[in-house]
Amino acid sequence: MAEPTWLEVSLTVNGELAEAVAEVLSRYIPAGVVIESMAVYTGPEDENGQAVGPLRVCGYLPIDEKLEETRRKIEEGLWYLGRISPLPAPVFRPFEEINWMEAWKQHYHPIPVGEGLMIVPAWLEPEMGGRLPIRIDPGMAFGTGTHPTTQLCLALTEAYFQHVAGAPLVLDIGCGSGILAVAALKLGAPQALGVDIDPQAMDASRQNAILNGVAEKLELGVGSVAEVRQGKFGLRQGDLIYANILAPVLVRLLDDGLGELVMAGGWLILSGILAEQSPAVESALAMHGYCVVNKPHVGDWVAIAAQRK
Ligand code: SAH
Repeated sequence: MAEPTWLEVSLTVNGELAEAVAEVLSRYIPAGVVIESMAVYTGPEDENGQAVGPLRVCGYLPIDEKLEETRRKIEEGLWYLGRISPLPAPVFRPFEEINWMEAWKQHYHPIPVGEGLMIVPAWLEPEMGGRLPIRIDPGMAFGTGTHPTTQLCLALTEAYFQHVAGAPLVLDIGCGSGILAVAALKLGAPQALGVDIDPQAMDASRQNAILNGVAEKLELGVGSVAEVRQGKFGLRQGDLIYANILAPVLVRLLDDGLGELVMAGGWLILSGILAEQSPAVESALAMHGYCVVNKPHVGDWVAIAAQRK
């Protein structure tokens, strides 16, 4: 019998913790960490048909002389994260695998989102059941589509295309993997700009735009609201603007002129907001001339679609 060559480490957590846990693991497992959906999908009558339920985050450590040290570092990293938000203990299991690239790819599953979208791991060709695929390479650390806030923003994007006429110009502030801008382009937006303060987001977004055949419609640049307002990019304003960041950052960005990036009648889709933080964001929106048109939530996470008067 072959000796095990890998030690699998895994934790089953909820969607909002999965990326943070994956980030800790990937510090010590540069070859890749996977997030496997164990979610049960709710019907369209429930909360926009979001995926709910646990995610399994796992990675494979080579069994070599560095194993014990790496294992200790992982436990330590998870312990710190567990102090912020309670976590289950990691499970370690010897794993015998020859073609391990294929093995980790098997952990990904397509995630249906909203009424008609499906987040699809780049290499899969699943049965789409009439859904529009948003292809994402989850090798990238952020914006894999597993976070509830990303899914809420995608469902609101569908609502935009159902309720507002025309072909929106799109700005994605904090684009990460580019998933939101890519989805809007696939739903029919003619042009989008994605900006992020993290230069890594440029490569990730470009890759994902290429995967989805929309690269020539997506401009990317390092920056935020201020740089867009200064006219550093091709688009200065849009009809559909995303910012899925964090509530305090959103309030600050609204003060920096985020609201003015939207043309009259256009929508601002905000998320990264915990339920208790929502009133602060809503009052900032009201102050900047917005009315809330939709406010869906998954668990404690809220997304807000607001229209500029
Ligand atoms: N839009 C993606 C990624 C969200 S993660 C999604 O919905 O899944 C949030 C992103 O915002 C990160 O990539 C982070 O680098 C970026 N970010 C954080 N603060 C920012 C700021 N002030 N301006 C622009 N981007 C910011």
